[in-house]
Amino acid sequence: MSLSNCEAEQSTNERELCLGAHISISGSFAHAVSIAQSYGCKCMQIFTKNPRTWHAKYIEPSLAAAFHEACEHASHASFPVFAHGSYLANPASSKPAQIEKSIPSILTEIMRCERLHIPYLVLHCGHGQDESLSLASDRVISCLIEVYSHLQEHPDHDHCHPVMILLENGPGDANCVGSTFEELATILDGVSDLGFSKLIGVCFDTCHAHAAGYALSTESEVGSVCDEFFSVIEHQRLHLIHLNDAAHPCGSGRDRHLPPGEGLIGNPGFSALLHHPFLRNLPFICEVPIPDSKSGQALIHSVTELCMRKE
Ligand SMILES: [Zn+2]
Ligand SMILES: [Zn+2]
Repeated sequence: MSLSNCEAEQSTNERELCLGAHISISGSFAHAVSIAQSYGCKCMQIFTKNPRTWHAKYIEPSLAAAFHEACEHASHASFPVFAHGSYLANPASSKPAQIEKSIPSILTEIMRCERLHIPYLVLHCGHGQDESLSLASDRVISCLIEVYSHLQEHPDHDHCHPVMILLENGPGDANCVGSTFEELATILDGVSDLGFSKLIGVCFDTCHAHAAGYALSTESEVGSVCDEFFSVIEHQRLHLIHLNDAAHPCGSGRDRHLPPGEGLIGNPGFSALLHHPFLRNLPFICEVPIPDSKSGQALIHSVTELCMRKE
């Protein structure tokens, strides 16, 4: 390949890579945008509330306005923002008390996204306790139906800022719904005739897929897993990639994220994921602890470099 071709390929890769990270909102919503920018992020994900409590503090209009303004000024193009839902909600639960808490919790999170003009909320499908996965998937479907019917009637619902729920594939631990692509497809099919079906999409987490037994360490493995994914899920349904490496072996059902290239998926796998024709134009979010600004910059830099050089 001539130098000029090589340069052309690099600049294409650079322009297309929409890479970001999960950012803490401990300063404020607007401050999270500045932090993301200081790392070099082109997109970001936040929690709109503490994900480990049910409580959600009211979002003052001034905080929401400052956040809208920060997002508008964050980028010359667009700066996609995603919200990740609470860890407590379990829409697959067989326990009525848990469903009774999960429905209002998801509803509240959707309306927080509306208020912040965040168009996507990532949701774990949850755990089915001692029931079969097919019963548990049915519960997720009923829960989504309830959430959207309550939303329509809610006085605080803002029709002007629709929020899409992105169901995230699970890591394959016991009774975790959505760990196989077929289970995600079953849930999508279960809502396909309903008015809100366009508001349900998918987020693909690479660490979770690896933990659930989908090997992603080589270009050919990535190709096969993507073929399997897109044979049951339309590619327009996929809106986000969680780009996480894995600390535990493939198929272990154990979910511990590492920065891309530092775990068992490794650089060849991530290079293939970043270049896959159905993935390359999607936003990629790394979900790893970022202790300081230097490590945030190093994270974004190393994944960008990986994308630029074809392994
Ligand atoms: Zn994830
Ligand atoms: Zn995870």
